[in-house]
Parts: sequence; structure tokens; C-alpha cells
Amino acid sequence: MPRVLAVANQKGGVAKTTTAAALATAFAQAGRRVLLVDLDAQACLTFALGVDAEEVTTSSHDVLLGRPLADSVVRTAEGVDLVPATIDLAGADAALMVRPGRDLALRTALASVADDYDDVVLDCSPSLGVLTLNALAAADEVLVPLAAEMLSHRAVGQLLDTVEDVRRILNPGLRVVGLLPTMVDLRTSHAREVVADLEGRYGLPVLRAVPRSVRVAEAPTRGRSVLTTSPRSAAAAAYRELAAELLAGR
Ligand code: ADP
Ligand code: MG
Repeated sequence: MPRVLAVANQKGGVAKTTTAAALATAFAQAGRRVLLVDLDAQACLTFALGVDAEEVTTSSHDVLLGRPLADSVVRTAEGVDLVPATIDLAGADAALMVRPGRDLALRTALASVADDYDDVVLDCSPSLGVLTLNALAAADEVLVPLAAEMLSHRAVGQLLDTVEDVRRILNPGLRVVGLLPTMVDLRTSHAREVVADLEGRYGLPVLRAVPRSVRVAEAPTRGRSVLTTSPRSAAAAAYRELAAELLAGR
């Protein structure tokens, strides 16, 4: 069975998509067979990996509504398979709402490709709606990126409450692997204080911070992950180390 990692935080702009793309690429570079699933109607991950959402015929929306997952898979230049998103996903909450077992649609779909992958990485949308519930219900692990400069303790608390609910009701094995400070400028004392404050606040591991780097912001326009566009950047190194730690724990 593949290990399923959800990258979740209902706050936008905290580097969920960046982290999902970088970790998936690092896993693939380590020789793993990797599937990424774009669960955000804005399709940023799909775009960031060089896939044109306009040309996608079968997307994560269709998979959630019962189309075979394998029909939607596209191969990306990073050597990672992707279930792309399209704007259709904006209606998925409403479409799924009326279905029994709506929170388990993704878990069911992933079971059909369980033999084909070693790792599945889920890029969540910035909400705590049905899409994120599907991701948490399907995941073994959840990773929570936090932008150190605009930390919202309220958002983190709500997410952790939701994880607790999902664990109780749908997925007892779900584990929070840690909080990942992103876009951190460790030269500023403010950023160092924010990261230090995270330790101990939630009783969760705080993973090694990913530094802020313009290289990261540039990568999506080239349709590749920062691991490929700027492999020697500090941000790429941070993501490679994080991927190695996650793989070592498996
Ligand atoms: P989310 O998926 O949580 O909305 P994104 O991954 O799309 O967040 O990141 C939000 C923005 O921040 C993007 O423009 C992205 O390129 C940029 N970004 C992410 N990580 C970094 C970083 N380490 N350094 C600089 N910019 C970053
Ligand atoms: Mg995103």
C-alpha cells in the first residue's frame, strides 16, 4: 500500500502547493513511484507541473464523482504522475454533498491504484470543506505548512480540530507528521521567534524551516519544481532533507 501524505492548511498562500510539488519530486528522485493529486479548483499544482488545465479532459473532480482514477493520470516532466485539477472542482463540494459516503470518495479511488505507487501526495485546497475532508480521510499522514510571517494560530487550531474529528470518525490511523515553517527569513529575529514559539505550542513536531527564496517563486512558471529548476538553492536542499526524513520514517 502506498503511504498517503496530505499537505493541508485552510489558509491560502502558505506553500502547500510548493511543498507538495517539491516533496513529490524528491520522492521520485529517490526512486519512488509517486502520484500527486491536485485538490484545489485553482489548479496551481497542475499549472506548476507544466500541465495546461484547459487541455485536461478528466480531472480530480471526475475521480471524486466516480470516474476511474487511472483515466485521469497524466505523466509530468518531473517523473511524477498527476491527477490534475480543473475549475470544475469548484462545484465538487455541492456535487459530493448529496452523496452517501462523500468523505470517502478519494480513499475509494486511491485504493484502485494502490499497487501502482509507493507514495501519494495530496495538495489540499484552502478550505476545510468536503475536498479537504476527503484528503484527510484518505491520508496516513498530514503535513501542515505555515508561512512564518503571517502565522494564524486560529487557522492551525481549526485544522488540528478537524484532523481530530477525522481521526475519531473516519480515519483512526491519521497522523500529523509536523508543522513546516515556510518562506522563513531566518536572518530576521521575528522569523526566528515565530519558529521558536511554534515549538511546544501544539505538541507537534516542528520540521526544519524552508527558507524564503525567489527561486521557489520562479519555478512554477517553468512548469517544474524548485528541485529541478534550482537544485542547489537552500530551499531545494530543505525540501530534499524533509523528503529524506519522511522516507526514513516509513
Ligand atoms: P498555497 O498552496 O498554500 O496557496 P503556494 O505553494 O501556492 O501556497 O505558495 C504561495 C506563493 O508563495 C507562491 O507564489 C509560491 O511561489 C510562493 N512561495 C512558496 N514557498 C516559497 C519560498 N520558500 N520562498 C519564496 N516564495 C515561496
Ligand atoms: Mg495551493
